[in-house]
Amino acid sequence: MNVEQLWNSFLEKIKGRISKISYDTWFADSKLIEIKDNVAIVLVSMHIQKKNLKENYNDLIEEVFTEVSGSNFKFKYVLEEELENNIEINTDVIGVPNNNFETNLNSKYTFDNFIVGESNKFAHATAVAVAESPGQMYNPLFIYGSSGLGKTHLMHAIGNYIVENKNKRVLYVTCEKFVEDFIGTTRKKNKNNSENFDVVEIFKKKYRDIDVLIIDDIQYLGNANQTQQEFFNTFNDLYGNNKQIIISSDRSPEDLKLLEERLITRFNWGITTIISPPDFELRMNIIDNKIDNNMLNNSFPQDVKEYIASNCTSDVRKLEGAITRVVAYATMMSGSDITLDLAIDALQDYFTKPIMNKNKIDQVMQIVSNYYNIKVEDLKSKKRKNEIAFPRQVAMYICRNILDESLTKIGIEFGGKDHTTVMHSVNKISKLIKDDNKFEMEINKLINQIK
Ligand code: ADP
Ligand code: MG
Repeated sequence: MNVEQLWNSFLEKIKGRISKISYDTWFADSKLIEIKDNVAIVLVSMHIQKKNLKENYNDLIEEVFTEVSGSNFKFKYVLEEELENNIEINTDVIGVPNNNFETNLNSKYTFDNFIVGESNKFAHATAVAVAESPGQMYNPLFIYGSSGLGKTHLMHAIGNYIVENKNKRVLYVTCEKFVEDFIGTTRKKNKNNSENFDVVEIFKKKYRDIDVLIIDDIQYLGNANQTQQEFFNTFNDLYGNNKQIIISSDRSPEDLKLLEERLITRFNWGITTIISPPDFELRMNIIDNKIDNNMLNNSFPQDVKEYIASNCTSDVRKLEGAITRVVAYATMMSGSDITLDLAIDALQDYFTKPIMNKNKIDQVMQIVSNYYNIKVEDLKSKKRKNEIAFPRQVAMYICRNILDESLTKIGIEFGGKDHTTVMHSVNKISKLIKDDNKFEMEINKLINQIK
C-alpha cells in the first residue's frame, strides 16, 4: 500500500468516528505526503486546520492510523508554504541561531531559572507552549500582573528558548523603545520632507521582518494616536503572517483604558494569562533557588529565609533585593555569619511592616489573653504588673516550645522585647510546668486550642 492508499483507508475509517461537518472541515482535503522516521507528515490547507488537528484530533488520528497501518506513528501537520520553505517539518531539529541578529534578549532569564508555583503555573505553561510552537498555538500571548512578578523574565525565557531551538528571528523591545523608535522615524521623515522613506522602511524591517515580536509593558503605549496606529499596523502584519506576538502589561486588556477598542479586541484573540503574587511556598522556593545559584546555601539559615519570605509577600524583585541586602550587610560586618538578628537589622527599613508568621503567634496571643481575661495589646505592652506579665510569659513559652519560633521573632511580636527577656520567660514557665501538674494541664488546654 502506498501512502495515498493508506491515507484513503484512514479517511474512510475516521469518517465513521466524527460528524460529517467535522470531517468535511478538517479532514476532507488533507493528504498524507510522507512517512519517515516514525513521523507521518500530513499536508493541510489552512492554519486553523493545522492547529485544530494538532490540538484536538491528534489522539484520535494516531489511534485510527495505528488501526489502519498496524504501527504507531507521530503526526506532523504542515501547510503548503511550510513545505515550500522546507521549514517546520523537522521541528525537532535544532535550528541555527541567528547570532548576528539583534534580539535584545537577556540570556540570564530562562525557563530553567523560573520557579513555578500556584500563582504562575498557568502563565508558565502557556509560555512554554508558545515557545515550543511560536505563531501556532496561542497568538497573541498576553501576560499581565503587577510589577516584579516575573513577566519580563518569562518573556525573555520564551525568546531565548526560540532562538536556541528554532531557526527564527526574535525581537524583544520595551514598549517605550517601540514608541521612541516610531517617533524618531516620523521626525526624520518630516525633516527630509518626505522625500526619503528609508527611515520608514528601516522601522518596518525592524518590526516586521521577524518571526516573534515580544513587547514589554504595553501600558506605556498610551494614547499617542499615531504610535497606536503604527502598533496596530505592525500587529496586523505580523499576525496575518502567523508570526508570534507576545505582550505584557501591568493590567488586563480590559483595563488598558488608553488603548483603542480594536487593539483590545485583538489582544483577546489569543490567550490572556495572569501572574498573581507568589504564595509562601513559592517565595521560599525562589529564595532557595537564588541562594543556591550564588552558592550561599550553607550560610543562609532557615529562619532568615522564612523571615524574608514572610515579609516580602507581593514582589519577587523585592524578595531578591532582601537577599542581596542581607549578604551585603554581612560582608560589611566584616563577614559575620548570617543570622536572624543580622537579617532583621539589615532589613529594618526595607520592609514596610514586619509581619512574620503572624497568624499562629496572633492566635496564641488571642487564646492566652482570653483565658486570663486581658487584652491582646497588653501582651505587647511594657506593663510589668503580674496580671499582665505572667500571661505574657505563658504566651511566649507557647510560641517558643509549640510554634518553635525563635527568641528574636517572639521578642519582636511581643512589642519589641529583647530575646533575653523571652528566654527568661520561657525558662520560668518551663520550670513551673515541671513542678506543678495542675498548671501543666492548664497550659495544655491552651495549647489544644491552637488550630
Ligand atoms: P515584572 O516584569 O513582572 O515586573 P520581572 O520579570 O522583572 O518582573 O521579575 C523581577 C525579578 O524577579 C527578576 O529578577 C526575575 O528573575 C525574578 N523572578 C520573578 N518571578 C520569578 C520566578 N518565578 N522564578 C525566579 N525568578 C523570578
Ligand atoms: Mg517587566
